[in-house]
Amino acid sequence: MNIRESVIQHFHTQFNRLPDYVVKAPGRVNLLGEHVDYNDGFVLPIAIDRATWLAFSANGTNVSHLVAKDLDQHCTFTIDSVRNKLDSEEKPLPGWAFYPGGVCWAAVKTGLACPGVNVVYSSNIPRGSGLSSSASVEMAFVLAWQTLAGWGLSPMERALLGQKAENQYVGVQSGIMDQFASACGEEDSILVLDCRSLDWHTIAIPANYAYIVADTMKSRRLRSGEYNKRRADCEEAVLLLSAYIPGLKSLRDVDIETFNQLACNLPERVEKRARHVVDEIHRTIEAIPLLEAGNLPAFGRLLNQGHVSLRDLYEVSTPELDIMVNLAQHIPGCLGARLTGAGFGGCTINIVEEEFATSFVASLTESYHTVTSITPDIYICHAAAGARLD
Ligand code: ADP
Ligand code: MG
Repeated sequence: MNIRESVIQHFHTQFNRLPDYVVKAPGRVNLLGEHVDYNDGFVLPIAIDRATWLAFSANGTNVSHLVAKDLDQHCTFTIDSVRNKLDSEEKPLPGWAFYPGGVCWAAVKTGLACPGVNVVYSSNIPRGSGLSSSASVEMAFVLAWQTLAGWGLSPMERALLGQKAENQYVGVQSGIMDQFASACGEEDSILVLDCRSLDWHTIAIPANYAYIVADTMKSRRLRSGEYNKRRADCEEAVLLLSAYIPGLKSLRDVDIETFNQLACNLPERVEKRARHVVDEIHRTIEAIPLLEAGNLPAFGRLLNQGHVSLRDLYEVSTPELDIMVNLAQHIPGCLGARLTGAGFGGCTINIVEEEFATSFVASLTESYHTVTSITPDIYICHAAAGARLD
């Protein structure tokens, strides 16, 4: 049984009727541009063919009843209880309910109605592995309430609402990329987002290459603290550099040459973090015409450089991610490999010549297992459409 059917069946068991709607919201993999969305940079994600499915109906009350099938947990809340991070019986909201609860809270704060809803949801996006299971949950709930209450928000507006939930309710100071990709994904397309202007366009995904996600199976523990620290370091860099560049708003506006001249004025850790961001934004700017021209060998080299920078400057890699990337880079047909997502565990993205895709998967599975005794989950992903009724 596929996940769509399983949430419908579970809904029937739970609520004794069939759901009125099902929505599907994809996860995403970021090809390049890591930790730059909150620095006004450019990102190059694709929405992937792994998603969260949510079966739902309005229940005519002010109490929302949520069933997280994958966690075998349920929870009820109202718009009033959710404001205090409580369930409808005044008990603390469980952590997983912060994502849908945050969406409800952010919507109500924006003046949007959130009628009581019965929901069952389930996903095949691994949790805490850098493929944005959290944004997919948020985008699924935003679309569910939009469907029931007729909000009329555009996909980008829905992404911004989800980001508000994640930033202000869950408490992770993430940028807009994850929710954007889940909301705005397009089949067979790489998304190109300018995180400052929110202008975006797509590039047809170059054919003859495989985009392969490799899960180290070491998911990130709760590292929102580390994430927020990286963001604070970037803010400190901007503050210190603004003494030399009046009016500086973000690291987006510092080119590599200027940064090199001014870097000596920054404390060592802040300098490393900022150097990653400045270089990574430069890499994405270089990457866009390469992708448009289908020059994947050159694009792959930027991925390799990106990994070194995330490992040594931004310090968000792990031993398993380094092993996975290093092994991949030595397998025939691999043009580039790097950790993807926030880091601290999770997945890598690999660009591989198509005729080598199958042998690459087999070889990486075997070699990673030999070194770590862990069987990884490695799959060839396809660029999918954004969140929609399914
Ligand atoms: P990711 O990189 O996958 O987005 P996060 O730490 O940001 O990792 O979000 C993971 C959290 O999102 C989970 O711990 C859980 O609270 C919530 N979540 C993700 N998928 C599901 C799901 N299928 N069911 C319930 N909650 C989920
Ligand atoms: Mg997330």
